[in-house]
Amino acid sequence: GLDSAAAAGWIRRAAELVSADVERLTRLDAAIGDGDHGHNLDRGFTAAVAALPEPGTATPGRTLIAAGRAIVSKTGGASGPLYGTALRRAGKAFGDAGEVDAGTLGAALRAALDGVQELGQAAEGDKTIVDALAPAAAAYGTALEGGGDLVTCVQAAVAAAEKGAEATVPMQARKGRASYLGARSAGHLDPGAASTVVILRALADTVN
Ligand code: ADP
Ligand code: MG
Ligand code: MG
Repeated sequence: GLDSAAAAGWIRRAAELVSADVERLTRLDAAIGDGDHGHNLDRGFTAAVAALPEPGTATPGRTLIAAGRAIVSKTGGASGPLYGTALRRAGKAFGDAGEVDAGTLGAALRAALDGVQELGQAAEGDKTIVDALAPAAAAYGTALEGGGDLVTCVQAAVAAAEKGAEATVPMQARKGRASYLGARSAGHLDPGAASTVVILRALADTVN
């Protein structure tokens, strides 16, 4: 299961991977947005790490809620409120559990997706975070139904997110800044879908 040390470890690993990927994420956003996605997320996850509760003082749920709040308040752009909401919703879905099991983590991914869609009103195919997160949540659920353990389910989620992000390349953006480009947004990987993969890889690294 995922205990509070693992929840905090996920956020720290996400901060590391985002910081290693700032240039690529910025380049992706420069192509179809305003070129700040890498820096927005770097600032947000740095704030999230700083906001993590003292080790041993919080549940996994409270840990993600604290990280999500910090991201909402410190991250510029569209992505900050979306990722912050995703983490807060996931944290709420964890409830008071001291250790989160595979089923609860699947429900949390689903809750995170619901939060992103309520806030951003994007559907699959709109070339956003949803195009990576929705298939990830679905694949997690399928792996769980197939009897997969937490690690297997997370790995299935990452693989589906990677495929989903790749599938944003030919899409025309219908939400966010890239939508201002109309047809010219096609032919580029969506930065938010790409960063969703990074954040889920951080989870896979942590639970492995
Ligand atoms: P901004 O566009 O405000 O500069 P970022 O560059 O940090 O913010 O984030 C851009 C990413 O946010 C996009 O690549 C897209 O994946 C995601 N995004 C934008 N609007 C939405 C939305 N309504 N729903 C889901 N994701 C969105
Ligand atoms: Mg941007
Ligand atoms: Mg911006």
